[in-house]
Amino acid sequence: MAFLTPDKTRIFCGVTVKEKIIPDGAVWQKDSGVYKKGSKYKSERLLSGGTGEVKYVTIHNTGRVSHSPQTTDAEQYTRATWPNCNMNDVRVHYYVDSVEAWQNLKENEVGWHSGDGNTGPGNGTTIAIECIMNGSGDDDDTASEDNCARLAAGLLLKYGLTHDELVSHYKWSRLRGGSKYCPAYILPHWDQFKAKVKAYMDEFRSSEEEEQPGTATDPSEDDTPTGAQDYVPAVGDRIKILPEAERYYPGGSRIPQWVKDDYIHVITQILFRGKPVQKGGKTCVLLGKKIAVGGTEVIAGINTWIDQQLIQKL
Ligand SMILES: [Zn+2]
Repeated sequence: MAFLTPDKTRIFCGVTVKEKIIPDGAVWQKDSGVYKKGSKYKSERLLSGGTGEVKYVTIHNTGRVSHSPQTTDAEQYTRATWPNCNMNDVRVHYYVDSVEAWQNLKENEVGWHSGDGNTGPGNGTTIAIECIMNGSGDDDDTASEDNCARLAAGLLLKYGLTHDELVSHYKWSRLRGGSKYCPAYILPHWDQFKAKVKAYMDEFRSSEEEEQPGTATDPSEDDTPTGAQDYVPAVGDRIKILPEAERYYPGGSRIPQWVKDDYIHVITQILFRGKPVQKGGKTCVLLGKKIAVGGTEVIAGINTWIDQQLIQKL
C-alpha cells in the first residue's frame, strides 16, 4: 500500500503537520459493522451547533502500530481512516506521534471520538488529538507527548482558549456516567501534562510578542566560518543543522530530513524572559526564519528550539 502524500505540510508550534483532510462527500467504500457501503463517511457538520466554534481541545491516547520505517504511526492511522475505512467510526482532527502530526478533519468540523454521540459536548464542540504512545516512557513516548503538548498549546491559543479548556476523553466519558480511561498513558500525570501545555502557551505567546522584525544582522558583517565547538550563537545568525543531529534536543522531537537538507535557518531568539533556554539539559536557540537552499527569500521558519551544539554557522 502506497503511503499517503499530504495535500499540504506546515510547521505549527514546532510540529510538522501534514494535512490530508477526509473530503466532504466521502462515503464508506465497504460495509463495516452498522455502516453500509455508500453511506456518509464523516459527520459533515460544524462544531457547536453549526457555528464552527471550538470550545475545548480533547486529548486521547492510542497505541503504536507496526509500519515500514519509511513512514510514521500518524500516517498509518490516517491512511487506515481514509481511504482504507479500517477505523470503524473513529474520526479525529489530528494524529500525532514522535515525528509529526497528520490532520484528518478541518478544525471546525465535528469528529467522532468521545463516545458521547451526536449531541454530546465531546464530539460536538472540541478538536480531538490522538497522541500515539505505548506507555513505556521511552524517547518516542516522550517526543510524542511533547508534540501533542505543542499542538494542543498552539490550538488553544489559536482559538482564544486557556489551558483549562484542555480536557481528556475521560472527562466526557464521566459526564455520561462512563469510565473510559483515556488518554491512558497521559492521565496518570495529567496535571503535569497540563502544566507543560500551559508553559508552551506562555512560550509561544511570548515569542510572538518578542519577535522584532528587522533585527537580523547583515551576514556579510561576519564572514568567518565558525566551528560548532566554539560557536556562540546570536540572533540573526544563519545556520545549518548538523547532518548527524537526530532530535532537536535530548527528549525532543526527531528532526525531519527536509529540515536539515532543504533549508538554511535563521536564529530569531536565544533568551526567554532574559535567560538562556535549557531543554533536555542543553542550551537551545530558536529557529524562527528559514531560507530554501539555493534561494534568497527569508520566510517563516520551523519555530523550534534546538540545542546550539547541533548547529553550524554559515
Ligand atoms: Zn479516547
